Amino acid sequence: MNEVRVRIAPSPSGNLHIGTARTALFNYLFAKKNNGKFILRIEDTDAERTSQEYVDNIFDSLKALGLNWDEGPDVGGDYGPYTQSERFDIYPKYIQVLLDKGFAYECFCTPEELEAEKEEATKNKQAYVYSKKCENLTEEEKAKLRAEGRKPAIRFNVSKAQKAFHDSSILEFDDLVKGKLHVDTNLIGDFVIMKSNGAPTYNYAVVIDDALMKISHVIRGEDHISNTYKQILIFEALGFEVPRFGHLGMILAPDRSKLSKRHGATAVSDFVEQGYLTNALLNFVALLGWAPSDGQEIKTVDEIAQDFRIGEISSSNSIFEYDKLKWMNSHYIKMMPLGELKEKLKKYLTKYDLSSMTDEQYTRMIEVTYEPLTLLSDITDAVAYFFGGDNVELDAKAKENIETELSQEVLRAFVEQGETWEWTEENLHEKLEKFRGDFKEQKGYKPKFTMWAIRAAVTGRLCGADMTAILAILGKEHSLNRARKCILTNVGK
Ligand code: GLU
Repeated sequence: MNEVRVRIAPSPSGNLHIGTARTALFNYLFAKKNNGKFILRIEDTDAERTSQEYVDNIFDSLKALGLNWDEGPDVGGDYGPYTQSERFDIYPKYIQVLLDKGFAYECFCTPEELEAEKEEATKNKQAYVYSKKCENLTEEEKAKLRAEGRKPAIRFNVSKAQKAFHDSSILEFDDLVKGKLHVDTNLIGDFVIMKSNGAPTYNYAVVIDDALMKISHVIRGEDHISNTYKQILIFEALGFEVPRFGHLGMILAPDRSKLSKRHGATAVSDFVEQGYLTNALLNFVALLGWAPSDGQEIKTVDEIAQDFRIGEISSSNSIFEYDKLKWMNSHYIKMMPLGELKEKLKKYLTKYDLSSMTDEQYTRMIEVTYEPLTLLSDITDAVAYFFGGDNVELDAKAKENIETELSQEVLRAFVEQGETWEWTEENLHEKLEKFRGDFKEQKGYKPKFTMWAIRAAVTGRLCGADMTAILAILGKEHSLNRARKCILTNVGK
């Protein structure tokens, strides 16, 4: 078998979509599994719909996901992607070959003429297929049209190519994912392969690039199946080897409509911004169409690559369950080495003065708060009470709690005894154990009620991280001052 060479070919008309990330991943996995090459090609032939900002986003998102491509133009020791707009001098050459072989022709139809044809088809309730009006123009007719200032587009002659390489009008191919697929090429109109301004169209440029880049397998979304037939005909017409195709089912939102921004984030960079980890995203999208043979869903990309078989990809659509992604993300947060997590979380803590903490305190704060996080961004709220000095905002439940006689009593004792305590986490642990033990013994208060009073006053909430660690990190002064402020006779003092 020839070398496996696959590609991801995004159009930079938006940030890297999570669906494109899945397609990229499946290509990447297929390349890995087969010791092949994974190529990135930016398809920016449609200048009006593309922007450099999106190119950069695609580039950065793929890198962040670790989906590094294997070749491309050298940009200072690194690979840039292949970019179609930088290859514009390549495309006309093969247009000429197609013209010379009679598989393409110049079309001088104006947009108005084409519109009229379409309207006529609609009126007759027929699917629109170009009339081939320009197929057999003589040289004189063409010269006349040129003299009128018309610039021709180039159309591919579908029926001619089909007849040259196939016995009937039926074109069939064996899809790696979906099995045998076919179309009646009579339903495909002669399509434009080069616009009158000289720009190649997608269906044409993609074939030239796939052929010249020796792409062996084209793995992409099933929305491209109708394009595949056109592309196969161009491959054949130019005498290029036709690659194998594999079309993936679509990714739908939980309501089964097309996944869009109204359902939540759709761009990889938005997910990352919201606090999703890239390895959780990758693991999650791998499961959209692929299932691990051992049923174990949490897997690294390397493990997935070992187990990955393109023929086992489900040909049906997948549902993008945001809740499942969240679950997976929380799992990945828990698995992340603390050193790495500490650094990653800083991005979500810019509103706090981290310089007020020693590195040790910061580490301990993260250590006692990270476990319940679903998104990295949840850390912003989770650590709020570690900041603010003597002040903390009490939520409704905490307010209610501190107003009880029990809590007042506990807080008075806490302030009084706390003054004498050595304020280290280890010692506080011991002291608090005795403190709540004494209350239980003397007053019959359940230890958890005793601790709730302290928690409510010091953190402003009834749940959160380990209380001893909070007190130790916050320090004696702030902890006791917060408690003092909640002793109702002290209010306003
Ligand atoms: N530029 C196309 C897109 O973004 C890629 C199609 C292909 O993979 O051939 O949909």
